[in-house]
Amino acid sequence: ESFKSLGVIDPLLEALATLSFHKPTPIQVKAIPPALEGNDIIGVAETGSGKTAAFALPILQKLWEEPKGLFACVLAPTRELAFQISKQFDALGSAIGVRTAVIVGGTDKMSQAVALSKRPHIVIATPGRLNDHLENTKGFSLRTLKYLVLDEADRLLDMDFGPVIDKILAIIPKERNTYLFSATMSTKVAKLQRASLNNPVKVEV
Ligand code: AMP
Repeated sequence: ESFKSLGVIDPLLEALATLSFHKPTPIQVKAIPPALEGNDIIGVAETGSGKTAAFALPILQKLWEEPKGLFACVLAPTRELAFQISKQFDALGSAIGVRTAVIVGGTDKMSQAVALSKRPHIVIATPGRLNDHLENTKGFSLRTLKYLVLDEADRLLDMDFGPVIDKILAIIPKERNTYLFSATMSTKVAKLQRASLNNPVKVEV
């Protein structure tokens, strides 16, 4: 398998070559084609599997085809993970001019509000701080959102982000794709899956 045979477009293939991602990992092989076909995805995969690129590549490809508005939101359980995810989006998306913003707790809200006003395509956030901006930052909304990613869903729920994720789910467009990744599939994760995904394809490694 190659990224090209999975359906990845040339500008992203060039970015992959620059990063020395020569071959897709198993989760990428399984997740990228159904994601590009427009399916919701449940990915059961651990950190280190290449799961970030498995969801970032389809999102960047769709963004390249139809670049408008705040396009995707990735919810992550920790600041560290949010920054790692944004690095991957920036590296893979540099060729297509992607703009990302990281919105996490423990950092200055004013500078985040400025970053949000610069119209990022992708917001990578921890749920609590994202909700804070949704409630308090004038002009910021998720009404154009096309993609939601719930990354490390089991950890998101272990950290009691369930209620705030429910709030966010209630205000974002129903017409969207959702990708849920989790190392484990617990009852709680299954419940979140039913609340957020539509007819998903399940991929496991
Ligand atoms: P992740 O599971 O998304 O945290 O990725 C783990 C590490 O693998 C990260 O450092 C990625 O940059 C790297 N990686 C992801 N996909 C590939 C690939 N196809 N080839 C080589 N490295 C990769």
